[in-house]
Amino acid sequence: MDHSATSTFLNGSSYFIELTYIIASIFFILGLKNMSHPDSARKGMFLAEAGMLMAVIGTLMNREIVSYEWIIGGLVLGSIVGALMAIWVPMTAMPERTALSHAFGAAAAALVGIAEYSIQYSAGVLAELPKFKVGALGFEIMLGALTTTGSLIAAGKLKGVIKGTPIQFKGQNAVNMLVFLVMISCFFYILLNPTAQPVFYTMVGLAVLFGVMLVIPIGSADMPVVMSLLNSYAGLAAAATGFVLGNNVLIIAGTLDGFSGLILSILMCKAMNRSITNVLFGGFGAVVAEAAAAGAGGTMREITPEDAAVQLAYAKKVVFVPGYGLATAQAQHAVRELANKLEERGVEVKYGIHSVAGRMPGHMNVLLAEANVPYEVLYEMDQINPEMSTTDVCVVIGANDVVNPDARDNPKSAIAGMPIIEVDRAHSVIVLKRGQGRGFSGLENPLFFKSVTTMLYGDAKVSLTNLAQAVQNI
Ligand code: NAP
Repeated sequence: MDHSATSTFLNGSSYFIELTYIIASIFFILGLKNMSHPDSARKGMFLAEAGMLMAVIGTLMNREIVSYEWIIGGLVLGSIVGALMAIWVPMTAMPERTALSHAFGAAAAALVGIAEYSIQYSAGVLAELPKFKVGALGFEIMLGALTTTGSLIAAGKLKGVIKGTPIQFKGQNAVNMLVFLVMISCFFYILLNPTAQPVFYTMVGLAVLFGVMLVIPIGSADMPVVMSLLNSYAGLAAAATGFVLGNNVLIIAGTLDGFSGLILSILMCKAMNRSITNVLFGGFGAVVAEAAAAGAGGTMREITPEDAAVQLAYAKKVVFVPGYGLATAQAQHAVRELANKLEERGVEVKYGIHSVAGRMPGHMNVLLAEANVPYEVLYEMDQINPEMSTTDVCVVIGANDVVNPDARDNPKSAIAGMPIIEVDRAHSVIVLKRGQGRGFSGLENPLFFKSVTTMLYGDAKVSLTNLAQAVQNI
């Protein structure tokens, strides 16, 4: 190729790269839009995956790549790890898996930033870099580093390898604030004196420490909100990486990720009637023992599958309220089976879905969609609550915190003010759970002691299968 042909080829390839990035960004936006409704969520995932494929192809065409060996090695290794995780990690462990993914994504952003800093430092051109680029670099590394350790602690708490209750000490908020202020001061110092390597690495170290300090005082019950916030940070770190590397798709995808994470955190806080500051600094879960005592007492009444089946079979309207127990028991097909049997008898069946039921946003919707439960019979908390007083039987399937009336009735409860599905307003409540186990918050639930409530003990899938059989026999 002569010189002009080479430059035409390079220009052509950079146009091609930008084109793939624009298409990838369109796919990401359409993917997000489709993911906002259960009906189209699967399509949204495929669109987002197609977008990511386009972005990877575009990046591989980059003419600055001098050798593909390491890239191919990384791709193969990453694909194998990803595929194995998809096969081995059960649905119930999805939150800690997601936390690990955030940690890896954020570590990648931080490492790219540190590598970029070292390259520019060795080339002796750091001082000439535009301030905006130095700022983006510092921002990327700071957010990336603190998100990495924060997400690792979140994964450890959710997995149970780190104590799930808030780890607190006297003066914690002041210490955290000090670490944060020194870290930010280092950031501004670097902005003015980019070559001050010791200050740069102090900032990295403090960010690593701050990630740990930020998450240890938060209880595992609040981890979903924290993860969604960390997801937002990882997205913003990626966007900053995009500015540093001049990569448009990273800027767009990172910003989308950053803001969707933030919106999700706000929505989750709203569903729990908490503020973000309360989640981050409230130490929720530390006062569980004393709050629990205020809530409950009395005895629980047990019911047999046969008696419960009679109530269900002769009801006009039945509402199922699923929770985390439905997920652990993998009882989604069994509940559909029972619903079919009831509908065959003319019973009106609906599902009440709390937005934080289970262990991740949309957990119940995903499970019920897998069992082909039609979306039209899934009702959000605000839609189903007004119907409770006209419901004959409410079947609580492995749900606990999201139906805890203490949140409504006991101002001293640790979950006071959290919106709940008010199952205790139904004519009769049947609770399916294995025993006396508490919910994620660790609180006692007075619902189980109420006169409208009866308990059907056992694994949710087994109980639902027995109920379907008993309804069939009537
Ligand atoms: P929950 O409060 O955690 O209660 C689940 C109940 O299911 C337990 O009381 C347990 O009692 C029962 N259970 C467990 N395995 C079972 C099985 N195989 N069969 C039957 N029952 C079983 O669940 P929830 O009402 O869904 O509330 C969710 C909680 O998790 C909230 O506190 C929420 O803030 C938090 N959270 C939510 C998310 C999210 O984004 N959705 C993420 C993380 C945490 P037994 O042991 O007696 O069976």
